[in-house]
This record gives sequence, structure tokens and C-alpha cells, in this order.
Amino acid sequence: HSASSHVIIVFGASGDLAKKKIYPTLWWLFRDKLLPSNTHFVGYSRSNLTVDNLRSNAMPYLNAKDSEWTQLDEFFKRNSYVQGSYDKPEDFIRLNKFIVDNFSACSNRLFYLATPPSQFISVATNLKAHCTAESDGLWNRLIVEKPFGKDLDSSEVLAKHLSSLFSEDQIYRIDHYLGKEMVQNVVVLRFANRVFSPLWNRDNIANVVVTFKENFGTEGRGGYFDEFGIIRDVMQNHLLQILCLIAMERPISMEANDIRDEKVKVLRCMRPLSLDDVVVGQYVADPENGKPGYLDDPTVPAGSITPTYAVAALYGVPFIVRAGKALNEKKCEVRIQFKDVIADILPSGAVHRNELVLRVQPNEAVYMKLMTKRPGMGFGAEETELDLTYNRRFTDLKLPDAYERLLLDVLVGSQINFVRTDELREAWRVFTPALHALESQRVAPHPYPYGVRNGPPQSDEFMRRLGFTFSGQYFYPHGG
Ligand code: NAP
Ligand code: NAP
Repeated sequence: HSASSHVIIVFGASGDLAKKKIYPTLWWLFRDKLLPSNTHFVGYSRSNLTVDNLRSNAMPYLNAKDSEWTQLDEFFKRNSYVQGSYDKPEDFIRLNKFIVDNFSACSNRLFYLATPPSQFISVATNLKAHCTAESDGLWNRLIVEKPFGKDLDSSEVLAKHLSSLFSEDQIYRIDHYLGKEMVQNVVVLRFANRVFSPLWNRDNIANVVVTFKENFGTEGRGGYFDEFGIIRDVMQNHLLQILCLIAMERPISMEANDIRDEKVKVLRCMRPLSLDDVVVGQYVADPENGKPGYLDDPTVPAGSITPTYAVAALYGVPFIVRAGKALNEKKCEVRIQFKDVIADILPSGAVHRNELVLRVQPNEAVYMKLMTKRPGMGFGAEETELDLTYNRRFTDLKLPDAYERLLLDVLVGSQINFVRTDELREAWRVFTPALHALESQRVAPHPYPYGVRNGPPQSDEFMRRLGFTFSGQYFYPHGG
């Protein structure tokens, strides 16, 4: 049999992720004719809804132009909705019958688990028992969203359960940072450039800093965040994934498992984080700009010690990962700081380290900070840059959203940009001891005022001790 249609089934279709991300992505892919021709979408959740409800929920996020309304109608004609529980076999039998009756028994099935993780095991169990396509030549694939557990043990419980039901090549764990342009660029930049490959090692690189910053706090949405904190929310997954791509050896091919093998090797070299390897912070009100502190958010439990900022040193070059909310700007970047040159023919202090920066967001760019002669008379050296700013270099550039790329990857069966079970286990092995120690010893995070550049003052000191240097001499004239 080969599939006569594809059916994408969204569990938790009434939810936040469904309306903000999943339906918009499906619509963009449909609009741009990137989906297989006979693709249908089935929303599933417990709420009593219609397709019209799904449409109006998603409407503010679809970015549909007036000229696209006919197409939008066509898209929603391909949508249906099935109301059902996440734990009753009869509901899944009914869902299966709905798919077979309305589309075909010969459909490939993509199950998007967009419910809270508490429902994953029961949904996956019922899917496997009652709702998969069984003929040869048809596939069943499962998309799972973070959080994949809260620590090594809870993640293992979930992973073992999923692995007992579905094979590794059916499970697609989304880390949407792997769908971002600059993250996907790392492999090409590293392995297709002679100027980088010989330098990409500890002999030449002093440190690598992977940064995530937000210029806003929890702003009334602290309930979810407080349970996880910045380390679980951003660092253990997104930043560690980026770091693996930066740190891995050359994979033997571009096949998903070859790349993931190399990422796992990086993680296996890392020793578990201890409390000495991290600085944690929590933002407090800044009366000068009128911004509230984390604990002023009514959705945050009183006295919470959840970190909203963290910087950690991971074994290796060293690798420094830092992430924080309520800082001075919103950005995500990788900064590779090269070792000092022997510059004894130039005046002391005149030469600063080279840095290669990959700005993941916003405004994608690759720039290399380097020393040049100050233009004009004289021979003074100054720090300038080779600058590849994407929206200047590639005019009319429209980069696809990370979710668009990733959903297409799932449809074509490419797992390069998805997190394998052993990768996830290693990532938790590295972070769990520090997370447990922070919680069991009730380590109080260092306070930092809303809007500062780099969390509490201890973090700059921590980075300096790890060898990160800042000259303060660089000036970029064109704005960020
Ligand atoms: P959500 O809105 O809280 O939940 C999705 C749907 O699941 C709800 O509409 C509800 O549908 C059902 N549900 C909620 N709580 C439930 C419970 N306790 N028991 C059974 N069913 C329940 O979640 P979401 O924000 O869309 O997130 C979905 C998944 O994506 C989660 O795994 C989340 O961690 C992950 N995620 C979300 C975001 C985001 O931006 N929202 C970002 C990253 C990852 P019914 O009551 O109609 O069944
Ligand atoms: P920078 O301002 O010299 O900062 C270099 C690094 O030092 C950053 O990691 C910064 O941390 C850190 N730092 C800043 N002040 C510090 C302090 N007082 N103590 C310790 N560390 C400190 O250079 P840059 O960030 O590479 O570039 C400056 C601006 O120019 C940025 O906005 C950048 O986006 C822009 N630029 C743009 C392009 C382009 O668009 N293609 C090219 C070059 C530069 P933080 O990360 O926390 O700030």
C-alpha cells in the first residue's frame, strides 16, 4: 500500500499552542502548497468545539491577507474536529473510524501531542492500541512538545513509555530552536569553510558563550514558568542543542543519526553540573523604570526561589550558557571568542580578541570582530567587523518560521532537527544534579534589577573567571 492521503491529528486542539502555533503553521504550509496534495487536519480535544471555533481561535495568529480568503476557506474545509477524552479507548476507536470513514484506511498519520505532558502517556497508549495506520507502507509519526520531563527520572519515565509504544523513528521531539535559520546554518558554516575548520578547537578558541535574553518578565504568566525556571525552560533544551552543534566533531554524513550521534558524544563528555558551575538570579523591581519584580507577579507563588536568570559553565573549551528574563534586550546568539594573538609588535592593550558572532534572533547575522588599521594617517589598530547581516545581504528575504520547517521535516521523515531519546537523557544527566541541589538546598537566587544587561553582578565576575574578556573598545555605528 502507499498512502492515498495524509491526516494530521492535533490533540489538545482547543489549547494555546494549537491556536498560536500549530494551526497557523498548517495554514502557512497549505497556503504555500508545501503539503502533500491530499492532506487533512483533524482537531481533537475534550471541549465541545466546531471547526468554526478553531478558526476564530486561530484567526489572530494566521496573518491571512484579504486576498487569501478563498484559500483560507479551502484550508478550513479540510479541517474537522472530533470531541473526545484523552483516556477512554472508545473515543480513540471512534477517532479511528472517523479517519477511515472520511479519508481512507490508507492514510499516513501524524499525531501532534499538544496537550499538557500529563496526558502524553495515556494519549500515546490509546493511539497505539486503537488509532494507528496498520498497513505496510503507511507511517504513523508522533510529535511531542517540551517539557520532556522535569529531571532525569521523570524524563526517563516518559521516554521509556513512549519507546515501548513507538519506535525511535516515529517519535519527533520538537525543539523549535533547531528550526531556526542560524542554528541550521551552523553545520554549513563550520564544515564548508576552510577558514573555520582548522581554528575550531581548544587551541584557538578561548570560550564560547551561548546567550538567550528577554527584555520582559513573566508579566502575569508566571504560573507555568515558576514550576520550571529558566534552566529547564531554555538552557537544558534550546541552548544545549545549539551548543552541541557548535561543539560536535564532523559527522560522517548529513544523515539524522550521524549528526545526532555526534551531538550525543558532546553531551557524554560533559560532567554533571554542580552548584559551583552556575550562578542563578531573579529579577527585582526597578523603581527607576517602574518595572515590577518577579515576586510582584500575582501568578508567581510568594517566596519563590525559581531562577529567572542563570549562567552555567559546561565542560569543554569552556562553554558558557546564559539565559535570562527581564534583561536589557531580546536576543539569542552564539559568541565564539578566540584566544589572544601574540601582538608584541603593537602597543600593549591595543589588540583585542577576535570574536565570531552568530545572531540567531532577532535580525539574523554572522559577524566576525577583528582588528584593522584605523583608516587614514597613522598605524593605530582598531576593532571592526566583517558583517553578514542577512536582511542587507539577502534582499526580500522571507525566512520560514521554525515550526514550518520542522513540520515539513516530520512529513518527509527527516529527524535531523529532532531530539533523540539518548540525547535527551544525556541533557538531563548534565543538568539534573544542579537543579536538584538548587531546589533541595533552597539556594536563593541573586537579585538583579529588571532591565540590566547581564543578570546579577556575580555573573560578569563568573564569566570573567572562565576567561571571557570584554575590552569595552568596540563600537558598532549602525545600531543593533
Ligand atoms: P494548554 O492550552 O494548557 O492545553 C492544551 C489543551 O489540553 C487544553 O485546551 C485542554 O483541552 C487540554 N488540557 C489542559 N489541561 C488539561 C488537563 N489537566 N487534563 C487534560 N487535558 C487538559 O497547553 P498549550 O499551552 O497549548 O501547550 C500544549 C503543549 O505544548 C504542552 O506540552 C506545552 O508544554 C507545550 N508547549 C506550549 C507552548 C505554548 O506557547 N503554549 C510552548 C512550548 C511548549 P480540552 O480541555 O479541550 O481537552
Ligand atoms: P560589545 O557590545 O562589545 O559586546 C561584546 C560582549 O561583551 C557581549 O557578549 C556583551 O554582553 C559583553 N559585554 C558588554 N558590556 C560588558 C561589560 N560591561 N562587562 C562585561 N561584558 C560586557 O559587542 P557586540 O555585542 O558584538 O556588538 C555591539 C552591538 O553592535 C550589538 O548590538 C550588535 O548586535 C551590533 N552589531 C551588529 C552587527 C550586525 O548587525 N551585523 C555587527 C556587529 C555588531 P551582552 O551580550 O550581554 O551585551
